[in-house]
Amino acid sequence: MTTYFGAIADDFTGATDLAGLLARSGVEVSLRIGVPDRPPADPAPIEIIALKCRTAPVDEAIKETRAALDWLRDAGAKRFFWKYCSTFDSTPRGNIGPVAEALMKALKTDQTIYCPAFPENGRSIFMGNLFVGEQPLAESPMKDHPLTPMRDSNLMRLLEPQVTLAVGLTNRHTVAKGPQALRDSLAKLKDSGVAHVVVDAVANDDLFVIADACQDLTLLTGGSAVAMPLPRLWLNQGLVKRRDVEGEHRFEDGPAIVLSGSCSAMTNRQVAAFLGQGGRPSLKLDPLELAEKGAGPALEWLSHQDLSKTPILYATAAPDAVRAAQERLGTDRAGALVETALASCAAAARDLGIRRFVVAGGETSGAVTKSLGVTRLDIGSEIAPGVPWCFARSGNHDVAITLKSGNFGNEDFFAMALEVLDA
Ligand code: ADP
Repeated sequence: MTTYFGAIADDFTGATDLAGLLARSGVEVSLRIGVPDRPPADPAPIEIIALKCRTAPVDEAIKETRAALDWLRDAGAKRFFWKYCSTFDSTPRGNIGPVAEALMKALKTDQTIYCPAFPENGRSIFMGNLFVGEQPLAESPMKDHPLTPMRDSNLMRLLEPQVTLAVGLTNRHTVAKGPQALRDSLAKLKDSGVAHVVVDAVANDDLFVIADACQDLTLLTGGSAVAMPLPRLWLNQGLVKRRDVEGEHRFEDGPAIVLSGSCSAMTNRQVAAFLGQGGRPSLKLDPLELAEKGAGPALEWLSHQDLSKTPILYATAAPDAVRAAQERLGTDRAGALVETALASCAAAARDLGIRRFVVAGGETSGAVTKSLGVTRLDIGSEIAPGVPWCFARSGNHDVAITLKSGNFGNEDFFAMALEVLDA
């Protein structure tokens, strides 16, 4: 099998979000964590490479994405996607624009589109302005993001300082007229030298129009939602095939564990709901204790539990407790202590026979997959929008793992994840 669609994501849970939406089509989706060291041996029709370059220095981000592009081309990919956050997380230096321009150059293409809209999740674009729910981006909580504060809502103005070529817009009135109107608009903009085109989308239907009109562009860029309709279009043309039902998604029989390092409001509710079910062996990790005693006591605790009851290990805490730990230890150290402890517990759990892992937290997911030695995830069914079950090899075992970023999923996510897998 060769790859048709190759995507590069600028962060880890963004990649799983994209993978989950693309896998809805029934086409096999494979996610690689970082650029694989080896050339593609058994590529899937849709390959996604998850990088961690959202806030990396521009040169580094370009170098990594170029390496990812080379790998995807070796896998046979003909269409490419540069996936970033639906809130356009970037600074005047980058990395959305510079990476897109470097990919365009490498692919010898002279135009691409920018569409971070995700109407189902309240992200819409009108006249080039991005809205989060009913708020313009620059009035949303994103204005105070610690690394990429978004102080303007206009995507053309945000993009212009990031790129060298001309930026333009195809607005909603054109998109609403359908794919041919959008194609005509892109062609007209190309004739006047516009390389970077922001495309409005306020409703789900707009995404289908955009996918239809842009399916033959070599490079598309955007959030996960604009890519979602593409596999079905390609299925209809016989360019990709649905996965065989036989023999897919194997994982060994074995108990499950929940590892939660996210402190988002939703994860706090999810942990409380899971504990509220009663009968779960549970251990709360405290960064201050970890600083003193390390992960040893948690590992010791785990080795004495009845694993068939789905233990939960969590550092999830309310904002004031998190702040208190950060003040004592420093934000980075507190985070690293928790991530290291949960990562060690994941590997120990696997060695004790655990074969299903439910992980909460973007950074936490990165640490856990690294510790489990997972480099490739085969994407299965979605538990919640943007959170699929994934299947992987870890220490010579076939395991199932789901990686949930902060605010994703409903309150009963942990129990639901286990049900979806048993179904
Ligand atoms: P999210 O997806 O919700 O952002 P992440 O795992 O990406 O979750 O980030 C949460 C960060 O907070 C991690 O670095 C984690 O180690 C850290 N953390 C978790 N629990 C605590 C705590 N009780 N005190 C301080 N930091 C914590």
